[in-house]
Amino acid sequence: MIFFPSLFEDELFYSAQARYHWFTGNENPRVSMKEMFGSHNICATLLFPSHLSDFCGHLPVPNTYTSDELIENHSFLPYFSPFIPEERTVKLIDSMKKRNGTSIYMMLGLAASEIRRDPFLKFCPKCAEEDEERHGEAYWHRSHQAYRVSVCYKHECSLIDSDIEVDQRHKHEMFTLSNFHRRGGCKFETVESRHAEKELFISQQSYQLLNTNFGSLGINQIRDYYVFKLQEKGLATESGRIRWLEFLPLFNQYYGQEFLSNLSSYVHPSDEDTWLHKLLRSPRVTCHPLRHILFLGFVNESVSSLNAAMNNKFDRKQQMRKILPDKKLVSKKAIMSHRVNWLRRDMEIAEEVRKVASDIAKTETKLVRITKTEVGRRLRIQPLLNRAYFNLPKTKEVMNEVIESSEQYQIRRIKWAVKQLSKQKLNVQVWEVNRAAGIKQKFEKKYRLLIEQEIQLQMVSNKETSL
Ligand SMILES: [Zn+2]
Repeated sequence: MIFFPSLFEDELFYSAQARYHWFTGNENPRVSMKEMFGSHNICATLLFPSHLSDFCGHLPVPNTYTSDELIENHSFLPYFSPFIPEERTVKLIDSMKKRNGTSIYMMLGLAASEIRRDPFLKFCPKCAEEDEERHGEAYWHRSHQAYRVSVCYKHECSLIDSDIEVDQRHKHEMFTLSNFHRRGGCKFETVESRHAEKELFISQQSYQLLNTNFGSLGINQIRDYYVFKLQEKGLATESGRIRWLEFLPLFNQYYGQEFLSNLSSYVHPSDEDTWLHKLLRSPRVTCHPLRHILFLGFVNESVSSLNAAMNNKFDRKQQMRKILPDKKLVSKKAIMSHRVNWLRRDMEIAEEVRKVASDIAKTETKLVRITKTEVGRRLRIQPLLNRAYFNLPKTKEVMNEVIESSEQYQIRRIKWAVKQLSKQKLNVQVWEVNRAAGIKQKFEKKYRLLIEQEIQLQMVSNKETSL
Protein backbone atom coordinates (compact mmCIF):
# COMPACT_ATOMS: atom_id res chain seq x y z
CA MET A 1 0.00 0.00 0.00
CA ILE A 2 1.36 3.42 -0.76
CA PHE A 3 -1.34 5.03 1.34
CA PHE A 4 -4.35 4.13 3.40
CA PRO A 5 -7.20 6.59 4.03
CA SER A 6 -7.66 7.90 7.58
CA LEU A 7 -10.44 6.20 9.44
CA PHE A 8 -13.26 8.44 10.59
CA GLU A 9 -14.98 8.51 13.94
CA ASP A 10 -17.22 5.50 14.42
CA GLU A 11 -16.33 4.16 10.97
CA LEU A 12 -16.56 0.45 10.30
CA PHE A 13 -13.14 -0.96 9.36
CA TYR A 14 -14.74 -2.49 6.25
CA SER A 15 -15.77 1.02 5.22
CA ALA A 16 -12.17 2.25 5.17
CA GLN A 17 -11.14 -0.87 3.24
CA ALA A 18 -13.82 -0.07 0.69
CA ARG A 19 -12.65 3.53 0.45
CA TYR A 20 -9.10 2.27 -0.09
CA HIS A 21 -10.32 -0.04 -2.82
CA TRP A 22 -12.08 2.84 -4.49
CA PHE A 23 -9.11 5.21 -4.25
CA THR A 24 -6.77 2.69 -5.83
CA GLY A 25 -9.04 2.23 -8.80
CA ASN A 26 -8.43 -1.53 -8.65
CA GLU A 27 -11.16 -3.39 -10.48
CA ASN A 28 -10.94 -6.60 -8.55
CA PRO A 29 -11.43 -6.35 -4.77
CA ARG A 30 -9.11 -9.34 -4.36
CA VAL A 31 -6.25 -7.22 -5.68
CA SER A 32 -6.97 -4.62 -3.01
CA MET A 33 -7.16 -7.38 -0.40
CA LYS A 34 -3.75 -8.61 -1.48
CA GLU A 35 -2.36 -5.08 -1.17
CA MET A 36 -3.87 -4.57 2.27
CA PHE A 37 -3.31 -7.99 3.80
CA GLY A 38 -0.73 -9.71 1.63
CA SER A 39 -3.23 -12.37 0.60
CA HIS A 40 -6.26 -12.20 -1.66
CA ASN A 41 -8.09 -14.95 0.12
CA ILE A 42 -9.04 -12.97 3.21
CA CYS A 43 -12.77 -12.91 3.77
CA ALA A 44 -13.93 -9.45 4.63
CA THR A 45 -15.88 -10.04 7.84
CA LEU A 46 -17.80 -6.83 8.16
CA LEU A 47 -18.31 -6.62 11.90
CA PHE A 48 -15.26 -8.55 13.10
CA PRO A 49 -12.24 -7.99 10.90
CA SER A 50 -9.36 -10.45 11.22
CA HIS A 51 -5.71 -10.71 10.10
CA LEU A 52 -5.24 -7.23 11.51
CA SER A 53 -1.56 -7.80 12.28
CA ASP A 54 -0.99 -8.56 8.60
CA PHE A 55 -2.91 -5.44 7.68
CA CYS A 56 -0.90 -3.22 10.04
CA GLY A 57 2.30 -4.73 8.65
CA HIS A 58 1.28 -3.61 5.17
CA LEU A 59 0.59 0.00 6.10
CA PRO A 60 2.75 2.43 4.12
CA VAL A 61 4.06 3.96 7.31
CA PRO A 62 4.37 1.48 10.18
CA ASN A 63 2.32 2.13 13.31
CA THR A 64 -0.16 4.47 11.65
CA TYR A 65 -2.74 2.20 13.21
CA THR A 66 -2.33 -0.61 15.68
CA SER A 67 -4.51 -3.72 15.70
CA ASP A 68 -5.77 -2.73 19.13
CA GLU A 69 -6.91 0.66 17.93
CA LEU A 70 -8.70 -0.87 14.95
CA ILE A 71 -10.44 -3.38 17.19
CA GLU A 72 -11.49 -0.81 19.75
CA ASN A 73 -12.60 1.97 17.45
CA HIS A 74 -13.69 0.20 14.28
CA SER A 75 -14.86 -3.34 15.09
CA PHE A 76 -17.81 -4.76 16.99
CA LEU A 77 -15.87 -6.25 19.88
CA PRO A 78 -16.56 -3.31 22.28
CA TYR A 79 -20.29 -4.03 21.89
CA PHE A 80 -19.78 -7.46 23.45
CA SER A 81 -16.76 -7.12 25.73
CA PRO A 82 -18.55 -5.62 28.79
CA PHE A 83 -20.75 -8.72 29.00
CA ILE A 84 -18.26 -11.53 28.47
CA PRO A 85 -15.43 -12.77 30.69
CA GLU A 86 -12.16 -10.94 30.26
CA GLU A 87 -10.27 -14.09 29.18
CA ARG A 88 -12.63 -14.48 26.28
CA THR A 89 -12.10 -10.89 25.19
CA VAL A 90 -8.35 -11.53 25.21
CA LYS A 91 -8.85 -14.61 23.00
CA LEU A 92 -11.12 -12.72 20.64
CA ILE A 93 -8.61 -9.91 20.26
CA ASP A 94 -5.99 -12.52 19.47
CA SER A 95 -8.26 -14.08 16.83
CA MET A 96 -8.91 -10.76 15.18
CA LYS A 97 -5.23 -9.99 15.04
CA LYS A 98 -4.26 -13.33 13.59
CA ARG A 99 -6.76 -15.87 12.51
CA ASN A 100 -9.93 -16.12 10.55
CA GLY A 101 -12.99 -14.15 11.56
CA THR A 102 -15.40 -17.08 11.46
CA SER A 103 -14.34 -18.58 14.81
CA ILE A 104 -15.22 -15.24 16.39
CA TYR A 105 -18.93 -15.83 15.89
CA MET A 106 -18.58 -19.19 17.64
CA MET A 107 -16.69 -17.68 20.56
CA LEU A 108 -19.36 -15.04 21.06
CA GLY A 109 -22.09 -17.65 20.92
CA LEU A 110 -23.57 -15.81 17.97
CA ALA A 111 -23.88 -18.85 15.76
CA ALA A 112 -26.58 -20.19 18.09
CA SER A 113 -28.02 -16.88 19.24
CA GLU A 114 -31.71 -16.14 18.84
CA ILE A 115 -30.85 -12.53 18.13
CA ARG A 116 -30.28 -12.31 14.41
CA ARG A 117 -28.25 -9.54 13.00
CA ASP A 118 -29.72 -7.38 10.27
CA PRO A 119 -28.83 -8.76 6.85
CA PHE A 120 -27.74 -5.51 5.17
CA LEU A 121 -25.45 -2.61 5.92
CA LYS A 122 -27.51 0.36 7.12
CA PHE A 123 -26.94 4.07 7.00
CA CYS A 124 -28.50 7.34 8.12
CA PRO A 125 -29.22 9.77 5.25
CA LYS A 126 -28.54 12.76 7.49
CA CYS A 127 -25.21 11.44 8.76
CA ALA A 128 -24.24 10.69 5.15
CA GLU A 129 -25.03 14.27 4.18
CA GLU A 130 -23.15 15.71 7.16
CA ASP A 131 -20.13 13.50 6.54
CA GLU A 132 -20.01 14.50 2.88
CA GLU A 133 -19.99 18.09 4.00
CA ARG A 134 -17.45 17.64 6.76
CA HIS A 135 -15.07 15.03 5.37
CA GLY A 136 -15.77 15.15 1.66
CA GLU A 137 -17.22 11.65 1.69
CA ALA A 138 -19.82 9.52 3.38
CA TYR A 139 -18.89 6.33 5.23
CA TRP A 140 -20.48 3.31 6.90
CA HIS A 141 -20.93 4.10 10.57
CA ARG A 142 -20.23 1.30 12.97
CA SER A 143 -23.04 2.08 15.39
CA HIS A 144 -25.64 2.10 12.63
CA GLN A 145 -24.86 -1.59 12.09
CA ALA A 146 -25.56 -2.56 15.71
CA TYR A 147 -28.00 -5.42 16.28
CA ARG A 148 -31.58 -4.47 15.46
CA VAL A 149 -30.90 -0.76 15.54
CA SER A 150 -33.35 1.00 13.25
CA VAL A 151 -32.89 4.71 14.00
CA CYS A 152 -29.89 7.02 14.06
CA TYR A 153 -28.61 7.67 17.60
CA LYS A 154 -27.88 11.25 16.62
CA HIS A 155 -30.58 12.35 14.16
CA GLU A 156 -33.31 10.08 15.48
CA CYS A 157 -34.44 9.34 11.94
CA SER A 158 -34.93 5.89 10.41
CA LEU A 159 -31.87 4.13 9.08
CA ILE A 160 -31.95 2.95 5.49
CA ASP A 161 -31.03 -0.54 4.37
CA SER A 162 -28.48 -0.77 1.60
CA ASP A 163 -28.30 -3.90 -0.52
CA ILE A 164 -24.84 -4.75 0.72
CA GLU A 165 -24.94 -7.97 2.65
CA VAL A 166 -23.29 -8.07 6.05
CA ASP A 167 -22.52 -11.75 5.63
CA GLN A 168 -20.16 -11.81 2.69
CA ARG A 169 -18.43 -15.04 3.41
CA HIS A 170 -18.24 -16.09 -0.20
CA LYS A 171 -18.28 -12.73 -1.89
CA HIS A 172 -15.70 -10.05 -2.06
CA GLU A 173 -17.61 -6.86 -2.54
CA MET A 174 -16.33 -3.52 -1.44
CA PHE A 175 -18.71 -0.63 -1.62
CA THR A 176 -18.18 2.76 -0.09
CA LEU A 177 -21.31 4.54 1.05
CA SER A 178 -20.62 7.34 -1.43
CA ASN A 179 -20.44 4.81 -4.26
CA PHE A 180 -23.63 3.17 -3.13
CA HIS A 181 -25.30 6.58 -3.36
CA ARG A 182 -23.87 7.26 -6.79
CA ARG A 183 -25.23 3.97 -8.01
CA GLY A 184 -28.59 5.36 -7.02
CA GLY A 185 -29.12 2.45 -4.68
CA CYS A 186 -30.95 4.46 -2.10
CA LYS A 187 -34.65 4.11 -1.54
CA PHE A 188 -35.90 6.77 0.84
CA GLU A 189 -38.57 5.54 3.09
CA THR A 190 -39.07 7.02 6.49
CA VAL A 191 -41.53 5.03 8.46
CA GLU A 192 -43.08 6.60 11.52
CA SER A 193 -42.68 4.05 14.22
CA ARG A 194 -45.01 3.53 17.12
CA HIS A 195 -42.04 2.56 19.22
CA ALA A 196 -39.84 5.51 18.40
CA GLU A 197 -38.73 6.22 21.94
CA LYS A 198 -37.70 2.66 22.68
CA GLU A 199 -35.99 2.27 19.35
CA LEU A 200 -34.01 5.41 20.05
CA PHE A 201 -33.03 4.05 23.46
CA ILE A 202 -31.64 0.87 21.92
CA SER A 203 -29.83 2.85 19.27
CA GLN A 204 -28.22 5.25 21.73
CA GLN A 205 -27.24 2.51 24.15
CA SER A 206 -25.64 0.55 21.31
CA TYR A 207 -23.71 3.66 20.34
CA GLN A 208 -22.54 4.06 23.95
CA LEU A 209 -21.37 0.46 24.11
CA LEU A 210 -19.41 0.77 20.91
CA ASN A 211 -17.87 4.13 21.64
CA THR A 212 -16.87 3.81 25.27
CA ASN A 213 -14.18 1.41 26.28
CA PHE A 214 -15.98 -0.30 29.14
CA GLY A 215 -13.97 -3.53 29.28
CA SER A 216 -15.36 -6.57 31.01
CA LEU A 217 -17.77 -5.61 33.77
CA GLY A 218 -17.90 -9.05 35.40
CA ILE A 219 -20.92 -11.28 34.89
CA ASN A 220 -21.53 -11.94 38.60
CA GLN A 221 -21.31 -8.29 39.49
CA ILE A 222 -23.74 -7.39 36.71
CA ARG A 223 -26.20 -10.00 37.90
CA ASP A 224 -26.03 -8.74 41.49
CA TYR A 225 -26.67 -5.24 40.26
CA TYR A 226 -29.68 -6.35 38.19
CA VAL A 227 -31.21 -8.18 41.15
CA PHE A 228 -30.66 -5.08 43.25
CA LYS A 229 -32.51 -2.98 40.67
CA LEU A 230 -35.43 -5.43 40.84
CA GLN A 231 -35.40 -5.17 44.63
CA GLU A 232 -35.71 -1.42 44.32
CA LYS A 233 -38.79 -1.96 42.20
CA GLY A 234 -40.19 -4.46 44.68
CA LEU A 235 -39.80 -7.24 42.11
CA ALA A 236 -37.31 -9.23 44.17
CA THR A 237 -37.23 -10.08 47.85
CA GLU A 238 -34.57 -8.83 50.23
CA SER A 239 -32.86 -12.21 50.02
CA GLY A 240 -32.66 -11.86 46.25
CA ARG A 241 -35.50 -14.12 45.18
CA ILE A 242 -37.09 -12.76 42.03
CA ARG A 243 -40.89 -12.38 41.90
CA TRP A 244 -41.18 -13.80 38.39
CA LEU A 245 -44.97 -13.82 38.32
CA GLU A 246 -45.04 -10.07 38.78
CA PHE A 247 -41.84 -9.24 36.95
CA LEU A 248 -42.42 -10.94 33.59
CA PRO A 249 -45.84 -9.37 32.82
CA LEU A 250 -44.50 -5.93 33.78
CA PHE A 251 -41.50 -6.41 31.53
CA ASN A 252 -43.70 -7.39 28.58
CA GLN A 253 -46.00 -4.52 29.26
CA TYR A 254 -43.14 -2.03 29.36
CA TYR A 255 -41.97 -2.81 25.82
CA GLY A 256 -45.09 -4.36 24.35
CA GLN A 257 -45.34 -7.86 22.91
CA GLU A 258 -44.98 -6.80 19.28
CA PHE A 259 -41.83 -4.80 19.94
CA LEU A 260 -40.24 -7.62 21.95
CA SER A 261 -41.23 -10.25 19.41
CA ASN A 262 -39.55 -8.24 16.70
CA LEU A 263 -36.38 -8.43 18.72
CA SER A 264 -36.86 -12.17 19.39
CA SER A 265 -37.08 -11.26 23.06
CA TYR A 266 -40.70 -11.73 24.08
CA VAL A 267 -40.95 -13.78 27.28
CA HIS A 268 -43.98 -15.93 27.89
CA PRO A 269 -45.18 -15.19 31.46
CA SER A 270 -45.57 -18.85 32.39
CA ASP A 271 -42.28 -19.98 30.88
CA GLU A 272 -39.67 -20.80 33.49
CA ASP A 273 -36.60 -20.83 31.35
CA THR A 274 -36.58 -17.58 29.40
CA TRP A 275 -33.61 -15.40 28.51
CA LEU A 276 -34.46 -13.24 31.53
CA HIS A 277 -34.06 -16.31 33.76
CA LYS A 278 -30.68 -16.92 32.19
CA LEU A 279 -29.68 -13.29 32.50
CA LEU A 280 -30.55 -13.17 36.20
CA ARG A 281 -29.67 -16.66 37.30
CA SER A 282 -26.97 -18.39 35.30
CA PRO A 283 -23.66 -16.65 35.52
CA ARG A 284 -22.09 -19.06 33.05
CA VAL A 285 -24.38 -18.24 30.18
CA THR A 286 -23.56 -15.04 28.37
CA CYS A 287 -26.48 -12.99 27.20
CA HIS A 288 -26.65 -10.93 24.02
CA PRO A 289 -25.85 -7.22 24.64
CA LEU A 290 -29.21 -6.26 23.14
CA ARG A 291 -30.90 -8.12 25.98
CA HIS A 292 -28.80 -6.38 28.57
CA ILE A 293 -29.93 -3.12 26.99
CA LEU A 294 -33.56 -4.23 27.19
CA PHE A 295 -33.22 -5.07 30.85
CA LEU A 296 -31.45 -1.80 31.65
CA GLY A 297 -34.22 0.15 29.92
CA PHE A 298 -36.83 -1.60 32.02
CA VAL A 299 -35.09 -0.63 35.28
CA ASN A 300 -34.51 2.95 34.07
CA GLU A 301 -30.77 2.54 33.78
CA SER A 302 -28.29 2.71 30.93
CA VAL A 303 -24.99 1.11 29.96
CA SER A 304 -23.11 4.09 31.36
CA SER A 305 -24.91 3.97 34.69
CA LEU A 306 -24.25 0.22 34.80
CA ASN A 307 -20.59 0.86 34.15
CA ALA A 308 -20.47 3.57 36.81
CA ALA A 309 -22.09 1.24 39.34
CA MET A 310 -19.61 -1.53 38.49
CA ASN A 311 -16.67 0.80 38.87
CA ASN A 312 -17.87 1.92 42.26
CA LYS A 313 -17.25 -1.69 43.25
CA PHE A 314 -20.92 -2.33 43.57
CA ASP A 315 -21.86 -4.10 46.76
CA ARG A 316 -25.49 -5.03 47.08
CA LYS A 317 -25.74 -4.97 50.85
CA GLN A 318 -23.97 -1.67 51.08
CA GLN A 319 -26.27 -0.18 48.47
CA MET A 320 -29.33 -1.43 50.32
CA ARG A 321 -28.26 0.41 53.43
CA LYS A 322 -27.55 3.55 51.50
CA ILE A 323 -30.73 3.99 49.52
CA LEU A 324 -32.12 6.78 51.66
CA PRO A 325 -29.15 8.75 53.02
CA ASP A 326 -27.40 8.46 49.66
CA LYS A 327 -29.73 11.01 48.11
CA LYS A 328 -28.43 13.69 50.46
CA LEU A 329 -24.87 12.77 49.67
CA VAL A 330 -25.47 13.07 45.96
CA SER A 331 -26.97 16.51 46.18
CA LYS A 332 -24.04 17.73 48.28
CA LYS A 333 -21.65 16.39 45.70
CA ALA A 334 -23.60 18.06 42.94
CA ILE A 335 -23.34 21.41 44.70
CA MET A 336 -19.59 21.00 45.14
CA SER A 337 -19.07 20.37 41.46
CA HIS A 338 -20.75 23.63 40.62
CA ARG A 339 -17.96 25.49 42.29
CA VAL A 340 -15.53 24.72 39.54
CA ASN A 341 -13.20 27.55 38.79
CA TRP A 342 -14.40 28.05 35.23
CA LEU A 343 -12.05 30.88 34.39
CA ARG A 344 -8.94 28.89 35.15
CA ARG A 345 -10.33 25.78 33.57
CA ASP A 346 -11.16 27.69 30.42
CA MET A 347 -7.60 28.99 30.06
CA GLU A 348 -6.14 25.54 30.62
CA ILE A 349 -8.45 23.86 28.14
CA ALA A 350 -7.89 26.57 25.53
CA GLU A 351 -4.16 25.95 25.72
CA GLU A 352 -4.67 22.20 25.41
CA VAL A 353 -6.89 22.72 22.39
CA ARG A 354 -4.17 24.70 20.66
CA LYS A 355 -1.59 22.01 21.44
CA VAL A 356 -3.75 19.14 20.23
CA ALA A 357 -4.68 20.98 17.03
CA SER A 358 -1.04 21.53 16.24
CA ASP A 359 -0.28 17.87 16.97
CA ILE A 360 -3.01 16.79 14.57
CA ALA A 361 -1.67 19.12 11.91
CA LYS A 362 1.88 17.84 12.41
CA THR A 363 1.05 14.15 12.10
CA GLU A 364 2.31 12.95 8.76
CA THR A 365 1.09 9.41 8.88
CA LYS A 366 -2.58 9.66 9.66
CA LEU A 367 -4.36 12.67 8.26
CA VAL A 368 -7.32 13.74 10.29
CA ARG A 369 -9.32 16.89 9.83
CA ILE A 370 -9.10 19.27 12.78
CA THR A 371 -12.65 19.52 14.04
CA LYS A 372 -14.21 20.34 17.37
CA THR A 373 -15.23 16.69 17.73
CA GLU A 374 -11.73 15.39 16.99
CA VAL A 375 -10.07 17.83 19.39
CA GLY A 376 -12.67 17.06 22.05
CA ARG A 377 -12.21 13.34 21.54
CA ARG A 378 -8.43 13.51 21.90
CA LEU A 379 -8.65 15.59 25.04
CA ARG A 380 -11.46 13.38 26.28
CA ILE A 381 -13.58 16.46 26.95
CA GLN A 382 -16.33 15.94 24.40
CA PRO A 383 -19.11 15.78 27.01
CA LEU A 384 -17.78 18.94 28.61
CA LEU A 385 -17.73 20.72 25.27
CA ASN A 386 -21.32 19.74 24.67
CA ARG A 387 -22.52 20.53 28.14
CA ALA A 388 -20.60 23.61 29.17
CA TYR A 389 -19.27 25.27 26.04
CA PHE A 390 -20.94 28.52 27.12
CA ASN A 391 -18.73 28.50 30.22
CA LEU A 392 -15.58 28.31 28.13
CA PRO A 393 -15.34 31.48 26.02
CA LYS A 394 -11.57 31.34 25.55
CA THR A 395 -11.73 27.69 24.51
CA LYS A 396 -14.41 28.58 22.01
CA GLU A 397 -12.30 31.37 20.58
CA VAL A 398 -9.21 29.18 20.17
CA MET A 399 -11.31 26.35 18.79
CA ASN A 400 -12.76 28.56 16.06
CA GLU A 401 -9.26 29.63 15.21
CA VAL A 402 -7.76 26.14 14.88
CA ILE A 403 -10.48 24.04 13.26
CA GLU A 404 -10.23 23.45 9.52
CA SER A 405 -12.79 24.16 6.84
CA SER A 406 -13.22 21.36 4.31
CA GLU A 407 -11.20 23.45 1.87
CA GLN A 408 -8.32 23.90 4.29
CA TYR A 409 -8.36 20.20 4.93
CA GLN A 410 -8.36 19.37 1.22
CA ILE A 411 -5.33 21.61 0.73
CA ARG A 412 -3.50 19.98 3.58
CA ARG A 413 -4.28 16.56 2.08
CA ILE A 414 -2.93 17.66 -1.28
CA LYS A 415 0.34 18.92 0.21
CA TRP A 416 0.68 15.72 2.16
CA ALA A 417 -0.03 13.53 -0.88
CA VAL A 418 2.55 15.37 -3.00
CA LYS A 419 5.13 14.91 -0.31
CA GLN A 420 4.39 11.20 0.14
CA LEU A 421 4.28 10.45 -3.56
CA SER A 422 7.48 12.30 -4.36
CA LYS A 423 9.29 10.16 -1.81
CA GLN A 424 8.44 7.19 -3.97
CA LYS A 425 8.84 8.43 -7.52
CA LEU A 426 10.32 11.17 -9.60
CA ASN A 427 7.54 12.40 -11.82
CA VAL A 428 4.46 12.76 -9.75
CA GLN A 429 1.30 13.25 -11.81
CA VAL A 430 -1.64 15.44 -10.92
CA TRP A 431 -4.11 12.54 -11.10
CA GLU A 432 -1.99 10.53 -8.68
CA VAL A 433 -2.15 13.37 -6.19
CA ASN A 434 -5.91 13.64 -6.61
CA ARG A 435 -6.30 9.98 -5.97
CA ALA A 436 -3.95 9.77 -3.00
CA ALA A 437 -5.49 12.85 -1.40
CA GLY A 438 -9.00 11.61 -2.11
CA ILE A 439 -9.98 14.74 -4.01
CA LYS A 440 -13.34 14.35 -5.62
CA GLN A 441 -13.79 14.82 -9.33
CA LYS A 442 -15.85 17.97 -8.91
CA PHE A 443 -12.95 19.67 -7.11
CA GLU A 444 -10.19 18.54 -9.46
CA LYS A 445 -10.34 21.65 -11.59
CA LYS A 446 -10.27 23.92 -8.57
CA TYR A 447 -7.04 22.46 -7.24
CA ARG A 448 -5.22 21.69 -10.46
CA LEU A 449 -2.98 24.74 -10.29
CA LEU A 450 -2.24 24.29 -6.62
CA ILE A 451 -1.26 20.67 -7.20
CA GLU A 452 1.06 21.58 -10.07
CA GLN A 453 2.70 24.23 -7.95
CA GLU A 454 3.10 21.85 -5.05
CA ILE A 455 4.71 19.23 -7.30
CA GLN A 456 7.16 21.87 -8.59
CA LEU A 457 7.97 23.07 -5.10
CA GLN A 458 8.51 19.55 -3.87
CA MET A 459 10.84 18.78 -6.77
CA VAL A 460 12.91 21.87 -6.00
CA SER A 461 13.10 21.03 -2.32
CA ASN A 462 14.00 17.39 -3.09
CA LYS A 463 16.86 18.58 -5.28
CA GLU A 464 18.06 20.89 -2.56
CA THR A 465 18.13 18.13 0.02
CA SER A 466 19.96 15.79 -2.32
CA LEU A 467 22.65 18.40 -3.05
ZN1 LIG B 1 -27.61 10.28 11.61
